[in-house]
Amino acid sequence: IPKEFHEALPILQKIESAGYEAYFVGGSVRDTILKRPIHDVDIATSAYPSEVKALFKRTVDTGIEHGTVMILDHGTGYEVTTFRTESGYQDYRRPDHVTFVRSLKEDLKRRDFTINALALAENGQVTDLFGGLSDMRKHIIRAVGDPNERFNEDALRMMRAVRFASQLDFKIEDATLAGIALHSQLLAKIAVERSHTEFVKMMLGSDANHGLKIMIQTNLYQHVPILGEHLDQLRQIADTDFTLTNEVQVWALLAFKFGFNSQQITRFLKRWKTANKIINDVILTVELLFAIQRGQVTNLTLYHAGSENVDNAIAVFADQSKTTGLSERYNRLAIKNKHQLKITGGELIKRGVLKPSPQLGQVLNYLEQNVVADKINNEPEDLVQAAINFLNED
Ligand code: ATP
Ligand code: MG
Repeated sequence: IPKEFHEALPILQKIESAGYEAYFVGGSVRDTILKRPIHDVDIATSAYPSEVKALFKRTVDTGIEHGTVMILDHGTGYEVTTFRTESGYQDYRRPDHVTFVRSLKEDLKRRDFTINALALAENGQVTDLFGGLSDMRKHIIRAVGDPNERFNEDALRMMRAVRFASQLDFKIEDATLAGIALHSQLLAKIAVERSHTEFVKMMLGSDANHGLKIMIQTNLYQHVPILGEHLDQLRQIADTDFTLTNEVQVWALLAFKFGFNSQQITRFLKRWKTANKIINDVILTVELLFAIQRGQVTNLTLYHAGSENVDNAIAVFADQSKTTGLSERYNRLAIKNKHQLKITGGELIKRGVLKPSPQLGQVLNYLEQNVVADKINNEPEDLVQAAINFLNED
């Protein structure tokens, strides 16, 4: 039993000693049984939110309308969620109503896949009502109950199935897979932010090729932004091995293979509601990828990309013969940013090279680019001389 559970045991005990039931549930139970690292420990209980709050000194209402209360314990937050059923799924999205119940069975029934519908009690006993343990041994993702109903209730579950298949290297069971193929168009009804999360996790999974193939095979790819317009390239990506470690790499791989320029990347990623900082890094990474492909990587391309995006491009670019030595080249750049230039605008003015004017920015840009290109030494005297020459040429 992992230390994360150990640390949370007093919380289960406290809820139980007040006469309620409490269990570890969800991903942490699944991942522990699969001997994978766990992140957050989720607790499910028969106690109602108000009853949970009455038991603990420090709680936060993180999702009280859905029955979730966060308990703060020595700097760690534990989400404790009341057993619940869900009803009135309109628009194939999350339920309109949740009803709190006292039965663990009802709570497990609403969960998406058998491997996610296990409960672990304080004494180590596992409640497995839908064959989740057996599916785990067989490496199978299987919907709890009738897949068609479950995907109609919440279409995001289809993306989650693909995500778990990729993360865990599992196969999606036949009826569940058929349900996805039959209902793929419902994914279009889901808020993009939710598909985004699952799609990125899928692409970062160890079997992402398989995940992409399932998205193609079931037509899910047609019901997320932009991917539907690029089937041929998507197939090529699915047929080539890749290992990605962050979101920038995910989007850079796609945008590079789709042949997107900066403007197209922005449009693509805005549709996916991607954060601006990530869009920016994707643009820089893809610029570098095209330069690598053309065999025309300049110091300036590396400098603009920055250390992290150089690493991102190397991770994305499949042919390693074209990327060897690239990070060493980056590390050898004379400067990594303009603050490392050994002269400032103020100093150029003080030395009488020029007066305060818009031209100052141009001069500094010129120095920056030429220091990066190894054409000017990054020493004060060399920089001053180069600035004077530049101004005389003009
Ligand atoms: P991760 O390790 O990535 O967090 P997880 O399985 O814990 O994976 P969460 O999104 O944290 O995924 O959800 C916790 C649990 O809640 C799941 O294991 C599952 O039992 C249930 N769950 C989450 N989303 C859904 C959904 N859309 N439909 C049904 N049950 C869900
Ligand atoms: Mg989780």
